[in-house]
Amino acid sequence: MRHVPRRRFGQNFLVDRSVIARIVEAIDPKPDDTLVEIGPGLGALTGPLLERVRVLHVVELDRDLAARLRATYPSERLVVHEGDALNFDFATLGAPLRVAGNLPYNVSTPLLFHVATYTGRCSDLHFMLQREVVERMIAGPSTRAYGRLSVMLQYRFRMERLLNVPPSAFRPAPKVASAVVKLVPLASAGRPLARDESLFAQAVTRAFAHRRKTLRNALGGLVTEAEFVRADVDPDLRAENLSVVQFVALSNCLDRGTGSAWGTEGARRSEGL
Ligand code: SAM
Repeated sequence: MRHVPRRRFGQNFLVDRSVIARIVEAIDPKPDDTLVEIGPGLGALTGPLLERVRVLHVVELDRDLAARLRATYPSERLVVHEGDALNFDFATLGAPLRVAGNLPYNVSTPLLFHVATYTGRCSDLHFMLQREVVERMIAGPSTRAYGRLSVMLQYRFRMERLLNVPPSAFRPAPKVASAVVKLVPLASAGRPLARDESLFAQAVTRAFAHRRKTLRNALGGLVTEAEFVRADVDPDLRAENLSVVQFVALSNCLDRGTGSAWGTEGARRSEGL
């Protein structure tokens, strides 16, 4: 039966064979890989991936598409996890885990943040995303695209844009251009580590919530002048000027004593990363 694409599930199906081949080539799956595809849809990537791995896991929210996949592939080769990838526990699949998918664009940022909480279990991730999102992920400081997404993901991953994909590669064609990005988790050794990652996430979120303000104003009441000095961060800069290393240094200089502004804030907010 013909499937009518559901906009609420971000369904733009890949139809360009050369794009599909290039993505699968980039992933380069090996037979014994533990590989999970998010949002398999009609199987544009699923079929070619299954030609390379013995077992493939997929997480699909659309009940009809999940049923269609179950009817097409044997369950010992394709394990269909029907449900929302935003709530999926990727730790249940084992490690090292490889993750791939042409992500639904309407939930791509929360999905990236959710998957990033499993960084330690992943060996790499390949995603098709809205091109503008990929640009934000890989942007450097003092550029327009640089923001919370850049800092939070660059803290954990080395990222590389692999190819740009035009709307014509999909049915229905999305209104926006797309790109494929590869993420490789950074080893803990040899990179600046936040002593308290939730504090780091809060500092980044707060700073970029007011990206036009100086850090002194954006983080006012939360970071003291002395802490800026200790972190060697100029409080007259804006969030967009600060490198990941500087954000880490700043958060490592904060005192999160119970009852402090950061302590209460930390208890209230869960940033996921
Ligand atoms: N992989 C297919 C392709 O390349 O043609 C489909 C990609 S389509 C852009 C996104 C897919 O993700 C759809 O199959 C959609 O039903 C599914 N999806 C949407 N939201 C989801 C979610 N929260 N969790 C899991 N799958 C989701």
